[in-house]
Amino acid sequence: MKRTTYTCPVCGYDKLEEPPYDEFGYPTYVICSCCGFEFGLDDASEGYSFSEYRQRWINNGFPFFNSKKKPSNWNERVMKRQLENVEKER
Ligand SMILES: [Zn+2]
Repeated sequence: MKRTTYTCPVCGYDKLEEPPYDEFGYPTYVICSCCGFEFGLDDASEGYSFSEYRQRWINNGFPFFNSKKKPSNWNERVMKRQLENVEKER
């Protein structure tokens, strides 16, 4: 089965509709609905590493970027469970 969603390497959100980088390694400029990271902008232009951006996002209270997609049960426990997706992908 073709994989149609992708995991954000910053926050672990696993419903990205495009991969962050294409098969040649170029950023797709997809914006994570959860942490708001824009691949190709926040990393390449702004110079954030994933872990720096993640820490800043958590320090800011881990706001869910796209309010339309925000889960109704979004809280610290859910966020931490989601972060485990990043660990798994390493
Ligand atoms: Zn994210």
